Amino acid sequence: MSVQSSNIEVAVALPVYHTFTYSVPPFLSPFIAAGKRVLVPFGQRRVTGYILGAAKETEPAEIKHILDVLDQEALFPSSMMPFFKWISDYYKHPIGDVIKNALPGGLTLYDYAALSITAQGKTALENKTVTSLQRSVLKLLENGPCRLKHLSNKLNQNVPGALIQSLQRSGWVSKTRELRPASTKTRTERYIVPGKPIAPTDRLSKARRKIIEILDQQGELSMPALKKQVPSATRLVRALEKDGYLKVQHKRVYRDPFGEPIHADRALDLNTEQQGVVAQVNDRLSRGFTTFLLQGVTGSGKTEVYLQIAAEVLKQQKSVLVLVPEIALITQMERRFRARFGERIAVLHSGLSAGERFDQWSLILQGQAPIAIGARSAIFAPFRAVGLIIVDEEHDASYKQENNLRYNARDLAVVRAKQNDCLALLGSATPSIQSYYNARTQKFIEVNLKRRIERRSLPAIKIVDLRESMGYRGIRRFITPELHQSIQDTLDRSQQVLLFINRRGFANFALCQSCGQPLRCKHCDISLTYHQKANALRCHYCGFSRAATVSCDICGSSKIKKIGLGTEKIEDTVQKLFPKARVARMDRDTTTRKGSIFRLLKGLNDRSIDILVGTQMVAKGHDFPNITLVGIICADLSLSFPDFRAGERTFQLIAQVAGRAGRGASPGRVILQTYNPDHFSISAAKDQNFMSFYNQEINFRKTLKYPPFSRMIQLKISGKDHQLTRDHAATLGNVSLALKTLNASVYDTIEILGPIESSLAKIANRYRWQILLKGTHAGALHQFIGQLMADHSAEFNNRRVRVVIDVDPVSLT
Ligand code: ADP
Ligand code: ZN
Ligand code: ZN
Repeated sequence: MSVQSSNIEVAVALPVYHTFTYSVPPFLSPFIAAGKRVLVPFGQRRVTGYILGAAKETEPAEIKHILDVLDQEALFPSSMMPFFKWISDYYKHPIGDVIKNALPGGLTLYDYAALSITAQGKTALENKTVTSLQRSVLKLLENGPCRLKHLSNKLNQNVPGALIQSLQRSGWVSKTRELRPASTKTRTERYIVPGKPIAPTDRLSKARRKIIEILDQQGELSMPALKKQVPSATRLVRALEKDGYLKVQHKRVYRDPFGEPIHADRALDLNTEQQGVVAQVNDRLSRGFTTFLLQGVTGSGKTEVYLQIAAEVLKQQKSVLVLVPEIALITQMERRFRARFGERIAVLHSGLSAGERFDQWSLILQGQAPIAIGARSAIFAPFRAVGLIIVDEEHDASYKQENNLRYNARDLAVVRAKQNDCLALLGSATPSIQSYYNARTQKFIEVNLKRRIERRSLPAIKIVDLRESMGYRGIRRFITPELHQSIQDTLDRSQQVLLFINRRGFANFALCQSCGQPLRCKHCDISLTYHQKANALRCHYCGFSRAATVSCDICGSSKIKKIGLGTEKIEDTVQKLFPKARVARMDRDTTTRKGSIFRLLKGLNDRSIDILVGTQMVAKGHDFPNITLVGIICADLSLSFPDFRAGERTFQLIAQVAGRAGRGASPGRVILQTYNPDHFSISAAKDQNFMSFYNQEINFRKTLKYPPFSRMIQLKISGKDHQLTRDHAATLGNVSLALKTLNASVYDTIEILGPIESSLAKIANRYRWQILLKGTHAGALHQFIGQLMADHSAEFNNRRVRVVIDVDPVSLT
């Protein structure tokens, strides 16, 4: 879209919340378009800005003009502007920074400056009012833009910078920055394409006839795929090609992370349940905005459903956006989509180099890739016309970005779908309470896949009560005799074992050894967190504190045990107990290096790993048919997490981890160890009964007014000076209270919890405090934070204490 007005609306890449109006000098106006970057004066500085569109009617008295246009092509379509504005407003984040976050990183890396001649420059050239060097430069540019670096070379004489500047000042030349995408290596493979049919009179050997028949039935095939069916194909194909019965073409092939080429496949015949879901969703395509929640047990064929709906969207000339929670899962999803849709796919994630990311971005912008697959940031894929946004494993907490622009890609999927008047399809075996509640209250439409493909059974889950294994000390207690024996049996059968530990960093909590209950806050029903320095147990929602030496509220026992467990310790112990087994570990520490996740997954795939010990990373979506035993070391680690979603996370984790077992022909077995065998999250997960879990959990949420019955906004306050940080938190707490009191009737639905010290009181030399705003009316809560920020902008933009706003926080620590 080109912007007609001479004044434009610009978002600058600075921490300011509103946009600015700039004027465009005539020589730059041909280059103006929404979605391009511009260079603008801002105070004493020159900064990058993004053109949002024509300026609105009312203008301030004095308007500065832009200095330069930095891009030849728009970086995102103008249809995305309302999306950026919504995000800025909802998440209370500066609009320019929203856009900066949305764009692929490293754009500037590929900038190079080029000069072009302007219309005025051409007139000047005719009127002969120029010096001879100016003339040479202008003449050269008449043939097309030229990189600054190459100018002197091409003219065979030195071109001083001042001359360029004078040409620019006269408006005869303009400087643009072009983006040069990096080249990526492609691999090709031979594909056999059918040629002329066999005439009745043709005399062909049996083997040759067979090849032609195969091509007839299966369409074009890669050479390796053909050789699998006809081992001597190489020689025969050459002869058949000469006679015109087939053609050999070199085509780009994609490989999965294990190096296996991806061969084309076709739509499967859907089972009745799948057909029902596909029909229901397809029926709504092109009929405006709707959100579907697809609840399908693990292995029920959700991905095939996505593929077939996506095919229908493509037929309608619209794009499909697929979000996946983890990079490791992208490749799995990519593999299936590539097999079905070939080259028409762009992949966006942080594992790509800046050049690769830019290439993928360009593919989407230029309309060459109507499908994009990626992690949360792919929600910003620059599609013009989206027809469907799929969010796989929608319950996953990794859709929440926890730094900088703190957005939730799952929620944004619904917002973008609404703005684009299209469909959102959220899928999960274990939907989030939030989404399921939305389905129950008719905001979403629920569709189900209740059975596994081929009726494979879900694995049997055996609960082991950790309270009964007191005989051992320390870590050894967690390899119970039952688990020990099962690992041994599995290894004896040459099958693989997955041992799962939920270890979200520090999570130290206290547990009653007699009744198995964690110690909880009496106000919030949240597990108390152990603060070592104070030797106290604290609720980090409301600040309630008690001595670490208390006895259990429930049974009175004084046997209180502080628990901290790690993957490393378990790995060591398991290796000692099974010295011959090949043990590996997958957690944040072992996967920081690029490609390390794939190495571990490859190890599982080619069976060079017997036992994998891992955190929630291993729980997600992977499909390894030879894993037949899953051990959940201590389910209480997530159950006792100081968060109102602890029960939800526990249920999801157990159901998901259990879903990793027995995906192949051999049945799977899960050993679930816990101090709380009777907790409803655990018993519901044992029976893989989502409804039973939901019904109890939703009551708990309702009683204590937790989401979805309220919304939350967290203020995270941090600084290097302890006293200053604490005082600042107190000030913010006071002004919040004052604002509420002053407008009691408007804000009576809002609660202000805290300020309290964060459970990780100090990270990287910064002291941390937090305030939680909770409101049963979203509108009032957002009005409240908006007014608070406007009335106290100094408190929110303090040089020494940082205040970060987290809207709809997922992690409350
Ligand atoms: P989910 O995403 O629900 O875990 P998948 O889509 O991965 O399930 O399906 C599990 C397996 O079943 C895959 O290997 C897939 O190819 C296969 N599958 C899916 N739908 C069908 C079908 N209609 N007929 C045969 N196999 C199917
Ligand atoms: Zn007790
Ligand atoms: Zn509390």
